[in-house]
Amino acid sequence: MKKCDLCHEQDKIHYRVKSILYTDWIFCCKECWSVVSRQYNYSYGGTRKLK
Ligand SMILES: [Zn+2]
Repeated sequence: MKKCDLCHEQDKIHYRVKSILYTDWIFCCKECWSVVSRQYNYSYGGTRKLK
């Protein structure tokens, strides 16, 4: 399990994203992704899945 860069909740799946607020790539959980995905300059860089 890895931590979400935003809420620090542990999860197995994270989304690699950037936005106007996060200009470097971050890994975030599904809930944080739903927030970041609505921000300006949002871009998606893949999904990290832990086995
Ligand atoms: Zn999160």
